[in-house]
Parts: sequence; C-alpha cells; structure tokens
Amino acid sequence: MTHKTSRPARLVLLSVDGLRPGLYRGPESRRRFPNLNALEKAGASAEAVESIYPTTTYPAHATMVTGLPPRAHGIYGHLASLDPTEKARPWCWFARALRAPTLWDVARVCGRRSAAVSWPVSAGAAIDHNIPEIWDPALPDPHRDFETSAQQATPGLFPEVAKILMPMLGKADPDQMRGEAALYLWKRYRPDLLLVHFVYYDQQAHAFGPVSAQALAALESADREIGRIRDAMSNDQATTLVVLSDHGFVPVEKEAAPLTAFADQGLFARGADGSLALRRLGAVHAGGSFALYWLEEPSGDDRRRLEKAVERLCATGAVLEVVDRQKLAALQADPDAELMLEAAPGFYFSDRTDGPPVRDSVKDRGTHGHLPTRAGLEAMFIAVGREIAAGKNLGRISLKQICPTLARLMGLPADILAPEEKPLALV
Ligand SMILES: [Zn+2]
Repeated sequence: MTHKTSRPARLVLLSVDGLRPGLYRGPESRRRFPNLNALEKAGASAEAVESIYPTTTYPAHATMVTGLPPRAHGIYGHLASLDPTEKARPWCWFARALRAPTLWDVARVCGRRSAAVSWPVSAGAAIDHNIPEIWDPALPDPHRDFETSAQQATPGLFPEVAKILMPMLGKADPDQMRGEAALYLWKRYRPDLLLVHFVYYDQQAHAFGPVSAQALAALESADREIGRIRDAMSNDQATTLVVLSDHGFVPVEKEAAPLTAFADQGLFARGADGSLALRRLGAVHAGGSFALYWLEEPSGDDRRRLEKAVERLCATGAVLEVVDRQKLAALQADPDAELMLEAAPGFYFSDRTDGPPVRDSVKDRGTHGHLPTRAGLEAMFIAVGREIAAGKNLGRISLKQICPTLARLMGLPADILAPEEKPLALV
C-alpha cells in the first residue's frame, strides 16, 4: 500500500553532464564524492543508463523530459545548423523545437509549478521560473555569456538571481553558480519541479580528459552542490531527489577532420582564401560521431564521391563504423542524416576544414557522441525519496525509462506524455 500524500510530491532533478557511474564508485571515489555515494546508498540507482544516439547533451536531455528517442522528440543533435561553413552555429536551445510534450508541460497542465537552471533545450519553455541555457555563439568565450540567458529568462527573474550570483563572479566555478541559483529558486518559489544542469565536469573532461585531476576536481564541486541541495530539501519529506546524467565520456588523443576529405572530393567548394563553401553536403560534428546530410538530391557521381571520401577516412583508422540510414532508423536517431561516422577508440571528429585528415589532438582530451552501447558512454541515475527503496540496484536501464518514472514520482497523469517505456519499479 503506497502512502497517499496530502499534497502532490515534488521533484528535484539534477543532471551532472557527462558523468559515468564508474567515476564515483570504488573505495577512494567514495571518500572523494561522498554525496553521490550517500545518495546511492539511500535510494535506487542504475548500474548504467544506456543513452541515445548520438550520446550528446541536447538530444539526451530532451529524452530525459519526454521519454522519447531523438527521432520522436525532434532534437537530433546539439546544433540547429547543418552548415559547417557557418562561423557561429546556433545550438538547439529553444523548447519550441521539441515535438512532444515534456515533464514541465504536463506539470503546467496539472497546475504544478516548475523552475529550471541552465536546462538544455528550455529557452522559451512553459517553465514558471526559468533561466535557460543559451549563449551567443559569436562571442569568444560563450561560457561567460550571461546576457543572452538573462534575455531569455522568465521576465524579472534574472535580476533577482543576479543579486546573489554577482558577488560570486570570478570566485565560483560554473556549478557553484548553478547550485546557488537553484537553492535560491527552491527557497523563494518552492517549485513542484526543479531542473538543474551542472556543466563543469563536462567542460573539464573535454579539455583535460575524463579522469584528469581537473575533471575530478570539477566533479567534487558538483558533488558538494548536490549535497547542499539535498540538505536544503531534507526537511521536505514529499520531495524526491533524482541525480542523473546524459552520457559518459571517453579519452581521446587524435583529432580527425572529415570535412577535409569531403572537400577534397568536391562535396564542398573552396574559396580563394581556402575557406569552405557549402555545396552538396551538410554536416554536424559531435565528437564521437559525425553526421552527414545531402542538402539536395545527390547524383550518382555525388554518391561515388561521398563513398570515396568515407573510404579515405576509414583508411586513416579514425572510423570504427559507418552508421547507415537503416541503422539510424533502428537507433531511432536523426532521420535526415545520410550516414553517421562512428569514431574509433582514441579519436574524435572536429569541424576543422584544412590540414591533414588526422592529427594529434591539440585541444580536446575527452569526448562523447558515440553509440550509446560503447563502453564508457553509459550515463548514471540515482533516485532518493520517501517511496523509494534504499540501496536498490536497478541494473542497466534505458534513458527513455526515466521520464515516465519521474512523472509517476510527481503523481502526474500518465496519459499526456507519450513515453515508449514503462516507469521503473523503484520500491
Ligand atoms: Zn552532456
């Protein structure tokens, strides 16, 4: 017999970008990340969460709140532009690109209030107190762009939160700022649904490697913020806390530039200054994978050129697999892509347009974006709350199972969302 609540249950959803479950387990990690480990003990958790394809932040976060794969929710990749020659490419920031109802839509229909801090694909969303993740891609350091997010936030909200955040500028890391904003929203508005996206681990894992000192220090910071948020809600018995991630991470040493091979085959034009111009193909680089699009109906000759370029890339050792349209359909991934290249271990794909097709990485030391079944790309999930069994091991689950589970935890009706999976049994 489940306990009937006199008021509907609240949900706090904390996403730690790029966190693989292996990272916070093991004797030393338990001391280093005490809050993640305490939550795992106190609640139900997955051994691994199989993400979606590509294992990138925006499609995966859209799956978390719709229960659907990319082909159904409409966020196929992180970029909203298929044009790799565009200098500052927009991302899929806007919730209007979602083609299915989300958790916050259902919450609103049911008269429940929501709040979000830096949640991907949430700009313009039906969230009552929202500071979305969005930036001006033309700026040299978009990580420091608060202006664009302020403009897209719920009217009046950003100045309120900025009062608290401004004294932290230059002293706090990105997750400390997000944690502080989340705590403010929690205390001030007590939303029924609070979504927070922590990004610092992902940033440092890209730059220095998934198990680098810098990345693990960032994860310690996220762990502390998770502990602060748990403490703030500990006197509220009707709140469930869920910590999860969107994908894992793998180390890389080599950078491959598929665009150079496609340009050599004439599928992009070269300007007098050597820069690429759009011709037949669109492309989206996603680290561990690389998607290609025909922008107009290809001729037989176009197809042969594409085949040649792909052969050449395969010969460099950078490509593990060519994911064709049939496999993309089976993965419920991007319906518009002609194919996606899957990076071999140690390689990642960039949008570089000149130089050799493969070189030692000069920038990135970690990446993701591969097939969700690849080792290291698994995401994590922990749920703690009054009606959840302590220490329950859920085994390997799918990211698509999470949204229906969250809807049930909040007591929301099951028939507005259209998830593919049934809720997880957490008791
Ligand atoms: Zn991510």
